[in-house]
Amino acid sequence: MTYVPNPDRYGRMIYNRCGRSGLKLPAISLGLWHNFGHDTPHATKQAICRTAFDLGITHFDLANNYGPPPGSAEEAFGELLRTDFRSHRDELIISSKAGYLMWDGPYGEWGSRKYLIASCDQSLKRMGLDYVDIFYSHRFDPDTPLEETMGALDHIVRSGRAQYIGISSYNSQRTREAVAILKDLGTPLLIHQPSYNILNRWVETDGLKDTLKELGVGCIAFVPLAQGILTNKYLNGIPAGSRATQDKSLHASVVEKALGSVRKLNDMAAARGQTLAQMAIAWVLRDGGITSALIGASKPEQVVDCIGALDKLDFTTEELAAIDAISEEKDINLWARSSED
Ligand code: NAP
Repeated sequence: MTYVPNPDRYGRMIYNRCGRSGLKLPAISLGLWHNFGHDTPHATKQAICRTAFDLGITHFDLANNYGPPPGSAEEAFGELLRTDFRSHRDELIISSKAGYLMWDGPYGEWGSRKYLIASCDQSLKRMGLDYVDIFYSHRFDPDTPLEETMGALDHIVRSGRAQYIGISSYNSQRTREAVAILKDLGTPLLIHQPSYNILNRWVETDGLKDTLKELGVGCIAFVPLAQGILTNKYLNGIPAGSRATQDKSLHASVVEKALGSVRKLNDMAAARGQTLAQMAIAWVLRDGGITSALIGASKPEQVVDCIGALDKLDFTTEELAAIDAISEEKDINLWARSSED
């Protein structure tokens, strides 16, 4: 059936300015890391993306290696662009990245000019796009001069392959260095993509969140739901089909370790009249330091639930203190910041 997007799709979403740029991003964006590979039916992927767009999510985040197999998420999204979103291309912010292992040999990962430009070209081909809106260096490379990695990003913009550039999981110091290099090159850094959620606060302890604010760089927080831990799905055990049963990125032992805190957070969310997923997203967005919360979803219903966060974004001082006290009990950091750490 031909897809006709919801005519009211821009009525509910909040759009936040990305740093000091001219670009606005939805307060909630959708990432295609999981559930967009060959392990998921195309109809599910289509339903998730249609639901997201219908609710005002204009930003879809990809990377060269998302799948499985690597590259298949971009291919699936390319198919959806052709069938559903072709006439809405200018309403979309599509991002991709390169940094992790994508192909064999010395040029298939990290941060060289050779790898980044070739990978960007491959991503464009898989998605059937002339350009991506944002192209990221996916991780800091300790063995490549930062000038080379940033020079490649600058070239990717100047050659028309991307409109803006970003970096992901760089620490505060490396981010400052990257911003200075890019300023000299004349292509400003639009955005940083770090992990951030109630149970993982490295962007606060490292100073990255404050650094980005000071530098006028936007920030999109990935894994705001701690891969599903900060939702109601694991409260009564690990359900079949959930990420903790099927994937190496989330071990059941991590879920179990967090469960005591999660139950208390779930009670707090209920007292606020929200689901835990909604409270976790609202918490990420609570002080204006984060441009967008970058969620994942395995079903359209999860997207609908997450968007409900927009109905109650404010917290009292007491609520924030209570969340801090609960989250201090467990140190659940599913993601380090960069290969340096
Ligand atoms: P997440 O939002 O923390 O977790 C998403 C998972 O939580 C879903 O797959 C689903 O788990 C569960 N979920 C979502 N909404 C729910 C709801 N309302 N109720 C119950 N469960 C719910 O984020 P993520 O998927 O791990 O990552 C999001 C995006 O961040 C990725 O797609 C990617 O774009 C980006 N990312 C970037 C990096 C990087 O290095 N830059 C690294 C990781 C991720 P089930 O699948 O089990 O149902």
